[in-house]
Amino acid sequence: MIDIVHRPRKRLFLVLILISLLLAVISSYGLWVVSLPGLTNISSYLPLLLGTLLAAVILAAVCGVAGILLAILGFRTLGIFQGLAWSAINLLFPIAICLGKLFDVDKERIERSFIEVSNHLIKQKNIKVQPSKLLIMTPHCLQQEACPHKITRDVSNCHHCGQCQIGDLVTLANRYGAHLAVVTGGTLARKVIKSIRPHAVLAIACERDLTSGIQDVFPLPVIGVLNSRPFGPCCNTRVDLKKVEEVIQSFIKST
Ligand code: SF4
Repeated sequence: MIDIVHRPRKRLFLVLILISLLLAVISSYGLWVVSLPGLTNISSYLPLLLGTLLAAVILAAVCGVAGILLAILGFRTLGIFQGLAWSAINLLFPIAICLGKLFDVDKERIERSFIEVSNHLIKQKNIKVQPSKLLIMTPHCLQQEACPHKITRDVSNCHHCGQCQIGDLVTLANRYGAHLAVVTGGTLARKVIKSIRPHAVLAIACERDLTSGIQDVFPLPVIGVLNSRPFGPCCNTRVDLKKVEEVIQSFIKST
């Protein structure tokens, strides 16, 4: 079965995030109104304190979402907006996923749209790093299922037999002087990042792993490239090597 991944649209994620923001504003106001009598009974200062706290969170989320929209529209935004944008995404993303469920929108479609937005925001920053500071991270499922070589310990154990794309990725990483790591999950991914201390990451994975990984390692810039799954999830997956090379070139400083 051929697994075709359609190019996702940024619009889906942006619309869901805007609706989530609206819901967050309404629920915060509702929470404040409901707790008003009880809080007043305890102290006349408490309603003001809670109101200020909720207003500060909502204002930060509004600034964050505005930061995302402005960056998508091509405006240059201050660093503080980028930080707020990621906080807003972390805060509103679960609501956006619930909304998607409600409207019968596939979770993977929302995640693909999120990855597209995130890649766009990173590309716009035009980040350039030394090759030795670029980490290419790929999941274990890209390795041929029956391959006996332990490439998660060291990618140079790959024998370049051509049965999967790991050999091509090793060649690509060596050509540009970047690091390549094959990871079995989030824990190993975090360990690799901690030991290599890259300044940028090119992550190859499925929608779910890329979404959580990008959010996990913020503020480290990550460009996500989705893998394709012609044999189903987590088995003999593939990646578009041309896309991978384009991302490597976009990240590396020209000398
Ligand atoms: S290319 Fe490398 S990792 Fe892939 S099957 Fe061959 S030896 Fe194993």
